[in-house]
Amino acid sequence: MSKAEENFFRSRPALAAKIKLDANENPYGPSDKAKQAITNILADGNRYIFSLIPSLKETLAKHEGVTADHIHIGAGSSELLCHAGAAFGLEGGRILSGFPTFPMLMNYAQVFNAAWDKVNLNDKLEYDYNAVASQIKEDTRLVFVCNPNNPTGTLVDPKIVRAFCEEASKKTTVYIDEAYLEFLEPSQQISMTDLVKQGANVIVSRTFSKIYGLAGIRLGYVIAKPELIKKMARYQMGVSISQTSIAAATASLGDQSFMEMCRKKNAEARKHLTDYLDKKGLFYGKSLTNFVFFDPQRGNAQQILGKLAERNIAIRVWDYNNKQWCRVSIGTLDEMKTFVKAFDEINV
Ligand code: PMP
Repeated sequence: MSKAEENFFRSRPALAAKIKLDANENPYGPSDKAKQAITNILADGNRYIFSLIPSLKETLAKHEGVTADHIHIGAGSSELLCHAGAAFGLEGGRILSGFPTFPMLMNYAQVFNAAWDKVNLNDKLEYDYNAVASQIKEDTRLVFVCNPNNPTGTLVDPKIVRAFCEEASKKTTVYIDEAYLEFLEPSQQISMTDLVKQGANVIVSRTFSKIYGLAGIRLGYVIAKPELIKKMARYQMGVSISQTSIAAATASLGDQSFMEMCRKKNAEARKHLTDYLDKKGLFYGKSLTNFVFFDPQRGNAQQILGKLAERNIAIRVWDYNNKQWCRVSIGTLDEMKTFVKAFDEINV
């Protein structure tokens, strides 16, 4: 098993589970438009995609209000996190992030012998930007931030994030992972891309895996100034995306009605879970995304994981602050009802 596969599959005994609440996938995707686009492009599957890459970059650049040399694409944002992990990890020194957060960039940087400095979240399970800022050292090559954060789903006020990015990017490179941005209501979807436009040392990453429901089709991109794009892109191992990923992503980009449907159903199903957690007095992060991170209090989370797996339900468990936490992705309302019922019977 490769390092990437190991990181991907680790702590997932319930891989064959029918109710998959372990990977923050979108149960409503791909959209009909994406499926149609994939069907239409299948006949071109014998062709390489080289000529399509420039036009995909143009499309993404236009969507983000930058030029195409500000865009780098990969098979999901994981690939891009790895490019950054390699590019900055190879410089030695340190990568700084909040903790817990999505670890892929740091895991990969450690393969290249960089050190990972972790700063705990605050007691509301939010990224603590002041505390992270105070830990930037002379040899901090990159700071990774994630808003909303995975695994907690919590959002920090974009004004705080912007102020942090502005200051921190004068000292080092800031990578901001916005994988779940589109789960926020449109008025709350405030990206840090404008800092890239101002020339700041900031890399913004986005994915088609979450709100667009294309996790298995694989497409992600980053927006950054051309010199940072070049620095990351050197580590791309080949062309990893396909006719289908380009077609599906192009058909999905900016599909407001599909995104709105997903947000609405997700919020409803999430409420079913948080109402239950409230009723039981279990502490959780205030999630604005398609997953909730909570303290099961009574049960041992590993045992809960095992017992849920027996019932064909997969979730994730995280160690944090000398405790084990459950992270449950939001499936359909029916799936959440099944989960809540099973969890209630197990966690006694
Ligand atoms: N960033 C965050 C914060 C994530 O949660 C994930 C997936 N869980 C990713 C990036 C990577 O996803 P993908 O490679 O499918 O874009």
